[in-house]
Amino acid sequence: MKIAVAAEVHAGETRVALVPELVGKLTGLGYEVSVEPGAGAGALISDEEFLDAGAAVDPAALEIADVVVSVQPLSVAAIRRLRSGATTVSFLPAAANPEVVTALLQCSITSHAMELVPRISRAQSMDALSSQSLVSGYRSAIVAAGLLRRFFPLNMTAAGTVPPAQVVVLGAGVAGLQAIATAKRLGAVVKAYDVRAAAAEEIRSVGAQSIDLALETLEGAGGYAREMTEDRAARQRDLLAPYIAAADALITTAAVPGRQAPMLVTSAMVEQMSPGSVVVDLAADSGGNVEGSVAGEVVRIGNAQVWGGRNVPAQMPGPASKLYAQNIVNLVTLMTRSTDGVAAFDPDFEDEIVASSCVTRDGVIVHEPTRAALDPDPVVEPDVSVVEPDVSVVEPDVSVVGPDVSVVEPVETTPQGEQP
Ligand code: NAD
Repeated sequence: MKIAVAAEVHAGETRVALVPELVGKLTGLGYEVSVEPGAGAGALISDEEFLDAGAAVDPAALEIADVVVSVQPLSVAAIRRLRSGATTVSFLPAAANPEVVTALLQCSITSHAMELVPRISRAQSMDALSSQSLVSGYRSAIVAAGLLRRFFPLNMTAAGTVPPAQVVVLGAGVAGLQAIATAKRLGAVVKAYDVRAAAAEEIRSVGAQSIDLALETLEGAGGYAREMTEDRAARQRDLLAPYIAAADALITTAAVPGRQAPMLVTSAMVEQMSPGSVVVDLAADSGGNVEGSVAGEVVRIGNAQVWGGRNVPAQMPGPASKLYAQNIVNLVTLMTRSTDGVAAFDPDFEDEIVASSCVTRDGVIVHEPTRAALDPDPVVEPDVSVVEPDVSVVEPDVSVVGPDVSVVEPVETTPQGEQP
């Protein structure tokens, strides 16, 4: 059976869904692995490295594959090149990509969404939300340190003492805890706040002070945060304002599953920050935790530079790809029956992980929230048009290397190159 690795075509996507060092895991199961030419270029991985690892490099990789793995959802054109009955595994924010879901249905493609892998212990090694949040959280602290025109650590020298930077982190999930740990390693004094009851202990365990606002905690289903009422949100903002005014760097990472990111910090709060201070809004892509932040840009609000994150894991494509590829390999392995070195891709749809991550199967949307969001009563016409396979090789955008955070000038609005 054949697994194809797609070249990413979304603007700014530098990651790749498989790395050479993990090709052997799939060939060891009995799969043939084919990679579209240039698939690893954004992550600085050459076709030769894939060839050396035992993969084929083939412009027609998608047409012959039983399973296609990618980071972003495949384009509609790419889906139309797949064999009917093939399976895709990728991030698949289906409600935001209705045309992709329609193409998956018309072409009878079974699709699995990495973000729908349930966050149960058995699935931890397949949890791409966590692996990519780890990358984002680390990057957010490095960006803050790079933008700030001062030391993170305390420096005691013969010439005098320079106090450490004060960093505040809002949201202490996977990304927030990694941001805290990274800022601590760089020597900053870190305070953090999260609405979940369990977060205070987690914040302390990575060396930060947990901010206690004496507000009720907001624990929802599955250990996630619940949405706040506007009254609760306003009280939280009032109580957080002095902490933010005193911070040299503010990093926000708050999210509520299935919702727009909560707006935690108004521009008036940012305006209270000192000259030269820095705000990093990791949630800018999904609505923003900070009023006025713009995904992919550095904007000036009051005295602060406000950096809005856009596809932040793609700014560290090497490690982000490696972790994502490990998640993919673990999920594909779960879906594989291997007998005497011969792989059969044979997902057990009774398995919670397989079933929960499945979006479309046999021409039907099986993920209920996607079905409800896209069409409560879909009638799918079979696609009878003859579509010529598009075998043109789309070069990934290798110009996206992330901003050099050491040279972002504090101007009114600074485009962050191709991305922040
Ligand atoms: P997330 O990305 O959904 O949200 C980030 C953080 O923002 C969360 O900690 C959330 O509580 C916080 N938040 C939401 N609204 C807020 C507000 N108004 N003010 C301040 N903070 C706010 O979360 P995540 O990183 O995916 O993790 C959420 C939880 O799931 C954590 O407890 C994490 O440990 C847990 N988790 C479990 C598993 C597993 O069991 N396999 C895997 C990953 C994460």
